[in-house]
Amino acid sequence: MADEADIANDFIDSEVSRAIGRLRQSQSMPNAAGTKTCVECGEKIPDPRRKLGFKLCIECAEEMERRKSRFADY
Ligand SMILES: [Zn+2]
Repeated sequence: MADEADIANDFIDSEVSRAIGRLRQSQSMPNAAGTKTCVECGEKIPDPRRKLGFKLCIECAEEMERRKSRFADY
């Protein structure tokens, strides 16, 4: 009898922790987040920057801005 109760508790525990895990995963990975590494050069993007939705490292973002302003001159 005690064994059955233990098995039931284990089952509930695993169900609950799985549900919490799913919840945490969906909260820590919003769709708006950027990529872990720069899509241009593969450089690691710092977490705070990535969470703002950036997909480029600072250097590539600056390079992109320079290119944009050069086009704007025409
Ligand atoms: Zn880069």
